[in-house]
Amino acid sequence: MALIVQKYGGTSVGSVERIQAVAQRVCKTVIAGHSLVVVLSAMGKTTDGLVKLAYEISQNPNSREMDMLLSTGEQISIALVSMALQELGHPAISLTGAQVGIVTEADHTRARILHIETQRIQRHLNQNKVVVVAGFQGITRTEELEITTLGRGGSDTSAVALAAALHADFCEIYTDVPGILTTDPRLVPEAQLIDQITSNEMLELASLGAKVLHPRAVEIARNYGVPLVVRSSWTDEPGTWVISPAPRPRALVNLEIARSVDEIEFDTNQAKVSMLRVPDKPGVAARLFGEIARQNVDVDLIIQSIHEGNTNDIAFTVMAPILKKAEAVAQAIAPVLRSQKATENEEAEVMVLPNIAKVSIAGAGMIGRPGVAAKMFATLAEAGVNIQMISTSEVKVSCVIDNADCDRAVASLRTAFEIEEDKGNLTLPPSLPPSLPHSLSPSLPHSLPPVRGVALDMKQARLAIRQVQDRPGTAAKIFGLLAEHNISVDMIIQSQRCRMMNGIPTRDIAFTTARIDAQVAQKMLQQSAAEYGWGEVVLDNDIAKVSIVGAGMVGQPGIAATMFEALSQHQINIQMIATSEIKISCVVAQEEGVKALQVIHTAFGLAGSQSIQVPA
Ligand code: ADP
Ligand code: ASP
Ligand code: MG
Repeated sequence: MALIVQKYGGTSVGSVERIQAVAQRVCKTVIAGHSLVVVLSAMGKTTDGLVKLAYEISQNPNSREMDMLLSTGEQISIALVSMALQELGHPAISLTGAQVGIVTEADHTRARILHIETQRIQRHLNQNKVVVVAGFQGITRTEELEITTLGRGGSDTSAVALAAALHADFCEIYTDVPGILTTDPRLVPEAQLIDQITSNEMLELASLGAKVLHPRAVEIARNYGVPLVVRSSWTDEPGTWVISPAPRPRALVNLEIARSVDEIEFDTNQAKVSMLRVPDKPGVAARLFGEIARQNVDVDLIIQSIHEGNTNDIAFTVMAPILKKAEAVAQAIAPVLRSQKATENEEAEVMVLPNIAKVSIAGAGMIGRPGVAAKMFATLAEAGVNIQMISTSEVKVSCVIDNADCDRAVASLRTAFEIEEDKGNLTLPPSLPPSLPHSLSPSLPHSLPPVRGVALDMKQARLAIRQVQDRPGTAAKIFGLLAEHNISVDMIIQSQRCRMMNGIPTRDIAFTTARIDAQVAQKMLQQSAAEYGWGEVVLDNDIAKVSIVGAGMVGQPGIAATMFEALSQHQINIQMIATSEIKISCVVAQEEGVKALQVIHTAFGLAGSQSIQVPA
């Protein structure tokens, strides 16, 4: 007999018929001898409807009242599903987040779970009841007992947190698609089902726009080793397992805000190649990285900064021993990339930096916590370390720095994040539920496909800060300011080109952020411009971010080239590039986003012959 947490999403409880179907499935599980906690979303598009109502009353609705309003949606579905279960002859009881004791921070509309009281649920389970819990909501610990919500899509997070707190055998997320697919089937009907995916890959995909799972749910699953499966509530297909490594022991307090960084990593054997002033037109990145792949040069990080005039800069890092080869490729291709109209000082130029190091903070707990990266930048600044390149992902922030600074950087990061030296990696096998078929046991990295999935985020904006002084502490200031306002950023890119302003070298820094935060960010950075000595802050809302994710792309030359080539063939211009070990993201024009997603998905051979049917 297992203890299972099942979560049903909005479409899955969208009508009386669907609620009855859910009750049937729940009954089946109980009859099979399992104990069950059911977590529900609001019916269908109820939450969207409530949001719309709020905005009809106010342009800027109070966030406390917003939580009061939105939390009602789930209260309807839990009552109805409990009734449906009782109709089928099964004892069931519905509980709100407050009644369970899902204790969160007081941060309305995006509260994090601190801990979950399990006594009441346990009591009802011992009475053989199915406990039906409202997802997405919690309560503050303060005497006021304020109702909070976790953020849109947050029922997944409620479910996985409950599974962790109850030490459930596994957590099942029932939704309107057969599982996790290679991309969103609403945009690419030929998307294929993935039978298993690592939690790191899923964290990236979820944060880069794949809304099938709330990223924070994946974070909790990874940190607490909760076996997690995504399945269709329409069929009995097995769905997709999210595989997590064996977790380090963690207390069940401060569940979502405990230690965010587990490891400090570094690599002193790196070198950087920059191509300055390449033409800003489709096909340039494809040509460069196509040639690099043909020469079998494996690149690590790639960045392409925002363009100044009509040219771009592209930089990449390689392992130091292959620098000469990489430089030769770049030198050979530079003349080909020169634009006909370029004057002499506008011509493409190759620059190499042989002695660089990469330092990273790693851990699952950085999502929506911009203060973590800001703390890294501030720590490096205090140690007098200048940051040359930044690469961000959901589980890692890496900075490229001068090799000579590496020891100092690592020591100060270890102190700041309280990480002991040489903890050693845990190599225990991942935790899997007993029901997982043997054929699905986790694969070793060598058998991982290079690209697991493709995601599109159409809700991003880009901000560019002009003429930022190039010296230690700059990134710390900018991202510290943003973190103070709880604004998360991605794709942080500094231009490779340096411009002297009053005798001080300056660069442009661009980054992407959620569009809803962009205006506030722009205003705030603009207000600080005089104080910190940077220039104009430019906002572009018309962007789309398209990303490929796969743990198997490590050490596989040619993956980036394939992505860039697919875009080039369809005349889609790449405005920005940023990579981490397991993802490559490109910013393109908003109107080309869907097309970009489709052509990249096809280019990696991810499309199946059958279309996925998605309920309306
Ligand atoms: P629920 O209400 O069940 O939580 P959501 O709408 O939040 O459902 O998430 C499911 C939707 O996620 C699917 O209908 C699909 O359109 C979308 N989606 C985006 N990317 C993916 C992906 N890679 N795999 C599966 N579904 C995806
Ligand atoms: N009902 C909430 C929303 O629509 C939570 C969820 O469905 O996960 O965002
Ligand atoms: Mg959802």
